[in-house]
Amino acid sequence: MTRGKENLRLLDKESLISWLEQKGYPKFRASQIFNWVWSQAVFDFDQMINLPKNLRAKLKEEFDIPAVVMADRQKSTDGTEKYGFRLHSGEWVEGVLIPADDRYTACISSQAGCSLNCAFCATGKLGLKRNLKAFEIYDQARLVNEASQESFGRPLTNIVYMGMGEPLLNYTEVVKSIDLITKTLEFSPRRITVSTAGIAKAIHRLADNEVRFNLALSLHAPDDKKRSEIMAINETNSIDILMNALKAFSKKAKGKITFEYVMLRGFNDTLQDAEKLVKLASNFPVKVNLIEYNPIDQAQYKKAEKDTTFKFAEHLKNKGVMANIRRSRGEDIDAACGQLANKRS
Ligand code: SAH
Repeated sequence: MTRGKENLRLLDKESLISWLEQKGYPKFRASQIFNWVWSQAVFDFDQMINLPKNLRAKLKEEFDIPAVVMADRQKSTDGTEKYGFRLHSGEWVEGVLIPADDRYTACISSQAGCSLNCAFCATGKLGLKRNLKAFEIYDQARLVNEASQESFGRPLTNIVYMGMGEPLLNYTEVVKSIDLITKTLEFSPRRITVSTAGIAKAIHRLADNEVRFNLALSLHAPDDKKRSEIMAINETNSIDILMNALKAFSKKAKGKITFEYVMLRGFNDTLQDAEKLVKLASNFPVKVNLIEYNPIDQAQYKKAEKDTTFKFAEHLKNKGVMANIRRSRGEDIDAACGQLANKRS
């Protein structure tokens, strides 16, 4: 049996240095190799022209350099772009680029599929295939950044972890990927937002680690009864428990907190619901995004009426809660929130 090659993209610099030293090469070669792979996105040893040929040959014998491939690209009539990313192991994930005024936001995935199965979300119907590695999350950001330059002549201004998967159930790799994005793409963590269905333990861990990026909670209902009905994760991570975790995050990590709230007709869109949301928003500084529901084949929900959503938002604002209505984008290509489900593959 032949032994598989080692994945160079899982290697930290120290390990590469000790490999080089074992083979009799100076350690500055590690910086050159890392520069090719991470800054230049060169994944072929033969193109690393400042390395001696014999080193290139040795590297080739022992290492692979897998990379995510943008294998599919669709453009919506509203400018939104959706990408199919193929992982080296054969799975697919999706990403989206959302241009708006002077903002260019990438929406990227942290898992192939998702284990949470929220009632209104298409991704959950796939089940979890696997967690992504940090380099696979980073590659999506890099590729969408290139696509943004190509389509709009502008680099990304924001990155949101709102594609497929639950980022906080892939904690270590997600945090590592943000480190890569901030260092390699020179991207401020203040322009990165991780969205979670609400894993309280992981939110406390983010607080303890004093991370510098922002957090969005997919709240979607203002009390436990309703929330548990649409999000099974609420059984073990109730609203109270989540509010405590977010308080800690707000205090220690100092990132901004957003509540995401998908407006479902006749389910969570009354002014009583809005009033309950006002109470929850009084725990710490928070902004509420009211999201237009994007119908999916597997669920019966309907989007709230425009007027209802408007009144809901007005109620929040009158009570001093910052609120935005988020129009759906890229719906014609199934790129909108909750619609990412690899329909083409
Ligand atoms: N698992 C994380 C990351 C996914 S983010 C989370 O739950 O936050 C995707 C966002 O879109 C979440 O707020 C999710 O609840 C929302 N969403 C899912 N399905 C949707 C749909 N059909 N219409 C509108 N928003 C949806």
